Amino acid sequence: MENLEFDTVILGGGPAGFSAGLYSSRSALSTAIVDISMLGGQPSNYLELENYPGFGKIGGFELMEKFEEHADIFGVKKFPMQEIEEVNLVSNPKIIKTKEYEFKAKSVIIATGAKPMKLGVKGELEFIGRGVSYCAVCDGAFYNDKIVAVVGGGNSAVEEAMYLTKFASKVYLIHRRDELRADKIIQERAFKNKKLEFVWDTVVDEIKGDDLVNSILVHNVKTNEKSEIEINGIFPYIGITPNVDYINGQIEQDSKGFIQTDETMKTSVEGVYAVGDVRQTPLRQVITACSDGAVGAVYASKYVQALKEVTV
Ligand code: NAP
Repeated sequence: MENLEFDTVILGGGPAGFSAGLYSSRSALSTAIVDISMLGGQPSNYLELENYPGFGKIGGFELMEKFEEHADIFGVKKFPMQEIEEVNLVSNPKIIKTKEYEFKAKSVIIATGAKPMKLGVKGELEFIGRGVSYCAVCDGAFYNDKIVAVVGGGNSAVEEAMYLTKFASKVYLIHRRDELRADKIIQERAFKNKKLEFVWDTVVDEIKGDDLVNSILVHNVKTNEKSEIEINGIFPYIGITPNVDYINGQIEQDSKGFIQTDETMKTSVEGVYAVGDVRQTPLRQVITACSDGAVGAVYASKYVQALKEVTV
């Protein structure tokens, strides 16, 4: 195992992590980004973004490549494909262990984002990769001329359902209420899409199949009527849950696991900051993740600076 020391180690290389990396390295702090997978975070899987200022419309992967190139210019060290096995956030220095490295850091910025929530119904885990998918951009092309269902009523569900209509012959959008949560502009586009069929007030009870998914059992929450819908694939988009398993209760989190911070992104532990989707925040967008990253890195650098002055 290789031992490495940095002023600031950022856990997670999505928009929040890269923005924090940029601001941290520009504050003359030695800075590393450690990520469990390839860098880029959730937007790498988005087809397009049209609400990131300055770009009009840009592919998610393309935008995150630009973030990475920008961080490279300022010398941020990158450690992709590093699963965090153990952290000690309370110690000084703070310790982060992966299989290959032990990082010592004066400050840590947590930017590990969030992952899709599971429906929690029979058949869901069994059929992952055989008809159950949480990434339309990754798997949509497998459903050419097939019938798929998307579950949820938020921006993700509606946008991804529309994306799937490029391939599928029909897309059911199954929502537990009779009104979507998605932004109005997204709703308007969806209601015009002839391949989308809305199934209101309905929840999924079971995902069925042989080798591959071939149907779902659902029921209407108002009438309690049960039915079976024949589909080839199902994409649950029912929200997100934070990637925080490695934290083991070392910092304060809310009841859903999102990390609690103050307005400077400081967590309940000195020298530890949390930014982006992983923290308790009213809006989870690329732009707010970037803003969090900038604020967190500026305050982490003030903390590191003060530590250095004490030890001089
Ligand atoms: P979300 O906004 O939290 O929506 C989750 C949806 O799933 C809601 O409609 C919810 O129903 C439904 N749901 C929750 N639990 C369920 C369950 N157990 N069974 C069935 N349905 C369930 O999540 P999201 O769409 O993943 O978006 C996450 C964040 O990213 C949001 O802040 C969103 O605005 C943002 N985002 C933005 C964009 C964009 O701006 N282009 C794109 C994607 C995501 P209820 O409505 O009844 O609660």
